Amino acid sequence: MPDNDNISAEPLPTTFESLGLSPAVMESVRTAGYLAPMPVQVSCFAPIRDGRHLVVQSRTGSGKTAAFALPLLHRIRYDDLRPQVLVLAPTRELALQVHQEIERLGKGTGLESVCIYGGTRFGEQLDKLHAGVHIVVGTPGRVLDHHRRRTFRTDAVQTLVLDEADEMLSAGFYEDIRKVLDALSGLSQVLLFSATLPPNLQGLIRKYMADPVCINLSQDRVDVDRIENVAYTVDSTGTKMRTLMAVIEAEDPSAAIIFCNMRSTTEAVTAYLRRRGFDAAMLNSDLCQTDRETVMARMKAGHQRLLVATDIAARGIDISFLPCVIHYDLPDDVQQYIHRTGRTGRVDRFGRAISLLTLKDSQSIRRLEWSYGIKLKLLETPSREETLKMLADRRIREIKEMIEAGRVIPEEFQVMAREILADPDVESVVATLVDAFLTSKPLDEMPMQAPRLSHRRESERGPSDAPRGDGGGAGGRPRSAPGRSAGGGSRGPRR
Ligand code: AMP
Repeated sequence: MPDNDNISAEPLPTTFESLGLSPAVMESVRTAGYLAPMPVQVSCFAPIRDGRHLVVQSRTGSGKTAAFALPLLHRIRYDDLRPQVLVLAPTRELALQVHQEIERLGKGTGLESVCIYGGTRFGEQLDKLHAGVHIVVGTPGRVLDHHRRRTFRTDAVQTLVLDEADEMLSAGFYEDIRKVLDALSGLSQVLLFSATLPPNLQGLIRKYMADPVCINLSQDRVDVDRIENVAYTVDSTGTKMRTLMAVIEAEDPSAAIIFCNMRSTTEAVTAYLRRRGFDAAMLNSDLCQTDRETVMARMKAGHQRLLVATDIAARGIDISFLPCVIHYDLPDDVQQYIHRTGRTGRVDRFGRAISLLTLKDSQSIRRLEWSYGIKLKLLETPSREETLKMLADRRIREIKEMIEAGRVIPEEFQVMAREILADPDVESVVATLVDAFLTSKPLDEMPMQAPRLSHRRESERGPSDAPRGDGGGAGGRPRSAPGRSAGGGSRGPRR
């Protein structure tokens, strides 16, 4: 990171009032329930307001979005309805989340903004762009598409924000980012936000950001202090999925994201959990955009207990209450462990990161310790018998709760129950009933009918690995596992 103009990691204490926010923004901040600015928001305000280039290294969940949104809302010329600010994020989920936060904070200011991302039809985004906006938030592919079609006028864009910039550059978006940067003829300010700043960002900073202000609020270490990192060894007598079930039963989190390395694994794990009566939904890039948004919205609203996801959910996604993430697979790149884990323990809450370990993970465990000082605390995996007992107890409890809730059982069923109990094959009959009961539970709001999946690793990428529709034309369902040509395209990985 360039060392000019570095700002102290100890920002001065201040209030929102002292930042000089407009009355409308002050009102939005109050409505959002923000009592005082977070450190990153204090440090960034003046440099952004004053039009400086900025490189910010700040841990995930630290209030980065408001850190750039608040001063930009201050800077925007509201009487000019041409895009003045472009915010790029690596995933559609993050782009939508950032856009929501900007809209929330800009309410009442006269702000017009649009989120442009793939997997949805161009129409609505086009209408909005046509009507005029001050801020465009989007994923790189779709933004470039609009630029090529001349539906996104870039000449008045002064500020470019790269959120999760390291992910953006490592995910095969480099070419896209470069093209965007070159397309912004009036660019005078680049804001680069990232939890980590790997060396490949240096070139971009040198080329496009003269004399940037650099803020490092993570003191060169990724903050995982508030997170307990524990692990369970996969039971060698059973499957990894059985161990996962044991862990969920033993830990009993109110909600969790379960991270897998491959899309095919997310599908298998989701199916396994749902079959056993768990409220699990799947999130990977094979889902159509509407399903992706529905799943995320349910999770954020606290209506979904378990989300089985690829790394599509690893970056920036803010589910403020999330008590737990489970690394079903340890990621190939240990840095990704930090990002995934950052989904829990947000905004000074405590969180728990649980890993399922197999023999092949010993290297990754050592790398975690060397690189980040994270030592996984090994807990005893419940035995097969204990797991089955916990599962049975829970289901019986659930059924009893239905009885206690006064569920009316027709007389015929009571008679049937007596007959079943007298039947010599009672165990099989009841097991079949339980199976039917669990599989018919009303969990089917969530999409399980994902298109056929490839068994490539999530980290593999190719030209057709773009987040669907980000560059692939208008809307529609994602293509399923298309043949991928070699040669490294400019789009991000498919997760
Ligand atoms: P971010 O790092 O932008 O994903 O933000 C993480 C979380 O912090 C989000 O839930 C924000 O709504 C919340 N947040 C942002 N600024 C503040 C603040 N000043 N006080 C309390 N919460 C905040």
